[in-house]
Amino acid sequence: MVEWIASYRERMAELPVMSPLAPGDVKRQLPDAPPAVGRGLDGILEEMDRVVLPGITHWCHPGFFAYFPANADLASVLADMASSGLAAQAMSWQTSPAATEVEEVVMDWLRQMVGLGPQFTGAIQDSASTSTFCALLCARERTGAFGQNRGGMQAEAAPLVVYASDQAHSSIPKGALLAGFGKENLRLIATDDRHALRLDLLRDAIEQDLAAGRRPCAMVAAVGTTATTALDPVKGMAELAGRHGIWLHVDAAMAGSAMICPECRWMWDGVEQADSVVLNPHKWLGTGFDLSAYFVRDPEHLIRVMSTNPSYLRTEQDGEVKNLRDWGIPLGRRFRALKLWFLLKDQGVEGLQARLRRDLANAQWFRARVEQAPGWELLAPVPLQTICLRHRPEGMDDEDKLAAHNLDLVHRINRSGRFYLTPAVLKGVQMVRVSIGSEASEFGHVEALWAALRQAADAR
Ligand SMILES: *Cc1c(COP(=O)(O)O)cnc(C)c1O
Repeated sequence: MVEWIASYRERMAELPVMSPLAPGDVKRQLPDAPPAVGRGLDGILEEMDRVVLPGITHWCHPGFFAYFPANADLASVLADMASSGLAAQAMSWQTSPAATEVEEVVMDWLRQMVGLGPQFTGAIQDSASTSTFCALLCARERTGAFGQNRGGMQAEAAPLVVYASDQAHSSIPKGALLAGFGKENLRLIATDDRHALRLDLLRDAIEQDLAAGRRPCAMVAAVGTTATTALDPVKGMAELAGRHGIWLHVDAAMAGSAMICPECRWMWDGVEQADSVVLNPHKWLGTGFDLSAYFVRDPEHLIRVMSTNPSYLRTEQDGEVKNLRDWGIPLGRRFRALKLWFLLKDQGVEGLQARLRRDLANAQWFRARVEQAPGWELLAPVPLQTICLRHRPEGMDDEDKLAAHNLDLVHRINRSGRFYLTPAVLKGVQMVRVSIGSEASEFGHVEALWAALRQAADAR
């Protein structure tokens, strides 16, 4: 299996980055009923090649410029194998002390790496969606003075309100709805021409809610929005949050990795005031899915919201150790910390900084090309590694035609098998979105993508 993975990684660049399969193609190759008699694993690698591989979209491919970088550095792949092989359950300290203590250490390393102060303590969650959900639950229980121990949200006299921008990731509305706030109490504040939350509108919304007897409860600041990597004004939001006792959660799922480079930290200026912060090392940093880093300022509050204490989970050491089951939603936890440990041991902070700086520089190169090329339009600022653009051929001014033209451009690029892009819509404008940051994407690949885009645009 190790050899198979290694050879896959070596061959990946020659495979079409987006899987060319049609729906049902994979299912058709598998029997309808389970094997009644076990026959061992002979032939499994051949089946992996034949059944699975064609149905894989290669997220670590050098031509992967879609969604967000989701790197799985080989060091973290080995760590994942070790984790599966050990099959350790990290729910309590006693159920595998190493799993808890390695996690405590590497999360503190990560805290230092991104420049967060010692007031923050981290725990690994499966995803930013879960981390944000935890944050909203903690906010709800803080504003509601632990209403969960009484009638819960159903007994609240005044509705609790959540604020985020209209560019917030879908996990924020989802989390707010799942946490019981209700759509009517979710304010998606309009953004400015840089696609960042407008503080003046946030202030107005809070005042209106207060005047109407509602209770402002949580706000989510995006550092690096999904569409354009826009940067919400964290510092201004923190001031408002402080003034009104609102929980401030910083969603830096994608961009948080960049904070290992001190020159990027201005982007989340004010983060020190946050109640909670999430960043996903399983995106750009390279730990392989899943490893979402959730940092909180008040671990006692998190534990109070999350903990359950049935007799069968109590251990002798409970008073002296961290039981990570109380730091999130699921009871069972994998030994994910190994992925971060192996990655850092292998590359060091400086190695990771060098790779991220390569990507940041490649993005600036790409931005400059788009800005200078006649017929091309940059649709958003480029603080990080995502470039939002569109082709605007001379004489084509009709918005519907432009949208169709750019969507077709992306589809043709994706079908070529060389590159993979996400065709997102930004405030009604169809864009070509280039997200740089695959570990394997060198400058030459970025250069080739720009050439391919221009060629495809001319060949329409
Ligand atoms: C990717 C992303 C998320 C969701 O991350 P998951 O770990 O897949 O849940 C949330 N917010 C932002 C800004 C993201 O980039």
